[in-house]
Amino acid sequence: MLSSLGNALKKGFDKIAGAIFIDRKTIESVVKELQRALIQADVNVYLVKELGDRIKKAAENEKIKGIEKKEHLIKVLHDEILALIGGEKKELNIKKAEQNKIMLLGLYGAGKTTTTAKLASYYSKRGFKTAVLGLDVHRPAASDQLEQLGNQTKTKTFVNKYEKNPIKIYEQYKKELGDYDLIIIDTAGRHSLDKELIREITELEKKIKPNYVLLTIQADIGQAAKQQASDFQKACNINGIIITRMDSTAKAGGALTACSETKAPVYFIGTGEKINDFETFNPKSFISRLLGLGDLEGLLEKVESAVDQKSQKKLKEKLEQGEFNLRDLQQQLKQMKGIGSLSKIAEMIPGLGKAKIPENLLGTQEDKMKKWEHAIDSMTEQEINDPEIIEKQTSRLNRIAKGSGTTTSDIRQLIKQYKLLKEMTQGTAGLSDIDPSQGLSQKQMQKLAKKFGKKMRM
Ligand code: GDP
Ligand code: MG
Repeated sequence: MLSSLGNALKKGFDKIAGAIFIDRKTIESVVKELQRALIQADVNVYLVKELGDRIKKAAENEKIKGIEKKEHLIKVLHDEILALIGGEKKELNIKKAEQNKIMLLGLYGAGKTTTTAKLASYYSKRGFKTAVLGLDVHRPAASDQLEQLGNQTKTKTFVNKYEKNPIKIYEQYKKELGDYDLIIIDTAGRHSLDKELIREITELEKKIKPNYVLLTIQADIGQAAKQQASDFQKACNINGIIITRMDSTAKAGGALTACSETKAPVYFIGTGEKINDFETFNPKSFISRLLGLGDLEGLLEKVESAVDQKSQKKLKEKLEQGEFNLRDLQQQLKQMKGIGSLSKIAEMIPGLGKAKIPENLLGTQEDKMKKWEHAIDSMTEQEINDPEIIEKQTSRLNRIAKGSGTTTSDIRQLIKQYKLLKEMTQGTAGLSDIDPSQGLSQKQMQKLAKKFGKKMRM
């Protein structure tokens, strides 16, 4: 996601922290690089220009000098990007004490149906008695798709393949829906926001009275998201946005910034096709992840959906202390099935930002993770505690490979990756006290400046 923007920001920090003097030339080159990356991410040129001007202006402030100036500039850079993508985190206000309804809108292919299932799964894991209601009467296969997803997530799903009037479907199930805390409603899309769609949505809104009407937009459309969101805002009462397919486009920055220009906040982002590829959108932690500072909060939120509370707490402690053994890796592999590739997990561990992870580790996908899991199963306690003895004795290597249906090179690779992972979590344990939700304090800014800035000479 947006790796070129992350790299440009990192380079900017690096340049500022490493410069002997912060002169106009340094600032110009930092701003230029950042602007190029923003334009590449499809952020509106005017916004990009304004951002550049503000950074330059902050740099010209003569009152702040020396190290303070560097910290100040790093903070300005950070805060400008933060403001650009939405500032403070906003959360849906869903209460268990009353019935809540969330209705999803959007054009064809925006990700409504997938997101309906993702939302349902997200909230049922958090203890809400959740049901899904399918009101897409336009696509013949829509109710099947929703039912399949419902089976997969074990969510009660109400559909009616034969009824062509969505209001009637709602009325048919209204009484049964009364048993649920939260109803997620999937609706029909169109190729564009036409009169018929507006009429259908307005009627549904009037009848169902949802607490939230959320617009689903695919990130691929980049800054065009602004027009689409404001059109929907004018025609229907949308009060929030979910951006899908953040994973599949370089234009995600455009979509994010475009939405932050409208009054509807981005509440969630979709980051893949799987049910768990879904997270609340928190601009601060999004940026710390861009910068490779890791996002413990985001990781834990995902882990929460796959792992029980107790082992989650343990994992947090282990990660924070930089202790992480082969057994932990195995447990993680077991529990994190469904989260996707190792790169997704790594992106969220503090200090394991993309920039530092070797390509071969990033490419590690689920099939390999499964092999590793089996391989660790075939190891003795001694081997798990001290994997190096496996590397030293070919007989051990052969035994494990045979026992787990893997190859010796699989196992060598596993040990190598584990060592790398361990090294990295240890090396960066000190940075994990950055709480992404709180942003960066003055002290953390210093730490950051140090991390990027070799020696700070003034
Ligand atoms: P709808 O027409 O608005 O209901 O859209 P669907 O939910 O059917 O989604 C359209 C396509 O986008 C499907 O192939 C989904 O698997 C895919 N999709 C949805 N959300 C995401 C996402 O966050 N990432 C990726 N890569 N694909 C997604
Ligand atoms: Mg659909």
